Amino acid sequence: MPDLLAQILRDSWSAGLDVFRGLVPTGLFFLALGALVKRSAILSDMRRAASETGLNLQILVFNLVVVGPLIVVLSQALVWLFRTQGWALIDPSVWVGLPALPVMLLGIFIGDFTGYWRHRLEHTRLLWPSHAVHHSDTEMTWLTLERFHPINRITSFVIDTAVLLVLGLPTEAVIANNLVRHYYGYLIHADLPWTYGPLGWIFVSPAMHRWHHAADPAAFDTNYATVFSIFDRAFGTFRVPGPCTAPLGVTDRMAPTLAGQIGYAFSPRAYRRRKATAPGPRSGQQVAGE
Ligand SMILES: [Zn+2]
Ligand SMILES: [Zn+2]
Repeated sequence: MPDLLAQILRDSWSAGLDVFRGLVPTGLFFLALGALVKRSAILSDMRRAASETGLNLQILVFNLVVVGPLIVVLSQALVWLFRTQGWALIDPSVWVGLPALPVMLLGIFIGDFTGYWRHRLEHTRLLWPSHAVHHSDTEMTWLTLERFHPINRITSFVIDTAVLLVLGLPTEAVIANNLVRHYYGYLIHADLPWTYGPLGWIFVSPAMHRWHHAADPAAFDTNYATVFSIFDRAFGTFRVPGPCTAPLGVTDRMAPTLAGQIGYAFSPRAYRRRKATAPGPRSGQQVAGE
């Protein structure tokens, strides 16, 4: 048992180091991109976002320490259940021998379909208080992708991974889905006005996802996908009136501190609705007006 615990801690430590190592080149990439798009305005934008960025980094470190080992355990448990205990609905051998690229693309496509519905679930009363942490960033940048409550991190990981494993998809497809969601996730959270023009009908643009974070009732319950906007179009939640200039954030009462953000989902008041006058996924936000 101590050996197993040591292995879990080693695995989560090395995964955490990989995340940190990835932050520097990713940060430089978005700095260069921001400078190209915004020119000198990037400096004032960075100053304005400094406090929220600091909080995002605190939440990132907290998750690496607290959630990292749990993710290692859960990933091993899921692989054990679906690969060795017969929980998969499709035998993993079905995919063996097929070309790797189409199988990985299928994993990304199914992964985003799953993510779409999982995200809608996160906007229900039960999961909104933890998901609200992601939405509480009023100065959204690429680092907002790292701003998730531990509960939100765990439910996302379990749901997204379980669906791919229940279909028997190989590890490469699961990894491809995780990598695309991670790095494309950075792009759609970046402070860029891009709508992608006609391509926005297929892919989620930074403007589209920024509207998802808008503190504007007209934008509530829209734009849930991460990679393919076709899912929002198919299920009637697509809304991109142009680059997003609306204020961002939530009306939930959450202190802009690590304790305030993490503690919110553990307070009963976060789960109470004021009235059912505006039922729907963002009902959690109605609470804050109380
Ligand atoms: Zn959301
Ligand atoms: Zn987001």
